[in-house]
Amino acid sequence: MIVKMKKTVTQKDLESFKTYLTKKGFDLKDVSSEAVKIFGIIGDTSKLDPADLRVFENVENVIRIQSPFKQVSRDFKNEDTLIKINDQVTIGDGSITMISGPCSVESYNQLKIIASHLKKRGVNVLRGGAYKPRTSPYTFQGLGLEGLKLLRNVADEQGMAVISEIPSADLLSTFEAYVDIIQVGARNMQNFHLLKALGKTKTPIMLKRGMSSTIEEWLMSAEYIVSSGNENVILCERGIRTFETYTRNTLDLSAVLAVKNLSHLPVIVDPSHAAGRYNMIAKLSIAALGVESDGLMVEVHHKPEEALSDGAQSLKLDTFDDMMNDLHAMAKALNRPLK
Ligand code: PEP
Ligand code: MN
Repeated sequence: MIVKMKKTVTQKDLESFKTYLTKKGFDLKDVSSEAVKIFGIIGDTSKLDPADLRVFENVENVIRIQSPFKQVSRDFKNEDTLIKINDQVTIGDGSITMISGPCSVESYNQLKIIASHLKKRGVNVLRGGAYKPRTSPYTFQGLGLEGLKLLRNVADEQGMAVISEIPSADLLSTFEAYVDIIQVGARNMQNFHLLKALGKTKTPIMLKRGMSSTIEEWLMSAEYIVSSGNENVILCERGIRTFETYTRNTLDLSAVLAVKNLSHLPVIVDPSHAAGRYNMIAKLSIAALGVESDGLMVEVHHKPEEALSDGAQSLKLDTFDDMMNDLHAMAKALNRPLK
């Protein structure tokens, strides 16, 4: 961290600033020139908030050099993190992981029709929301525990793994019992109490990017989970809110490149919640593979017009097949297995 001091700063002021930092375990290195008074703060500055230093009236500017996240960064660990879900699926090993299923679990029949179709097309991870985070309290809220049980049953029948969104920390042991990957939804990305609780399980976590979160905030949330004890974190870019209204969100593909550069954690792209429109999903999925996404999460419904949530962004079964044909061609060109 670099601190620029006012030119008028006295030796006494500097001494008290130095004492403050020494007490916190840091060293202050003077790198001033004739023109500017500049100091480097030496030590693990991830524990220091630049804003706190502005309390000193002689501090003119503070610039962070070291990233505030530690364990999720490539500086801490350069090799890609691989997350083994089962014998068929390892996320981050160079293969393209397909996660697919309905937005919400609605019934056994609905899930069975969708899951059996997906499995035939080579999808090994079934998604489905049981506890739905809806903007309106009057819309379908999900089947709750019954939904998780249906998801588990159908996935077992088809030989698939399961991912579902956890609404709160009190349900952790229930989720551990029924799912293979716990999803943290965009709205909960900064629920720090939940993130710390998820550090106590070994079940892999898929952390969706908050709809208004910066890349740094997203990685800091991942840092909460990892530093609390669970290294099995998958990031998921699902679009961010911008001034654009044509699409539901704006898919931030450059963020995929950024986090893959900054962090060793795998990244999945969810074009469904980004676009909000079914006719954009296939092409956005291709684009996601172009930026080296480790996989895709795509919503599918056999009758989107009857879906209890997110029908407009759900692919029909035949359109899903068309997309898979394109994705297989892309995977072949990239020399990456698609599974
Ligand atoms: C979902 O995946 O069902 C979901 C609610 O997504 P998000 O948290 O990204 O809005
Ligand atoms: Mn959805």
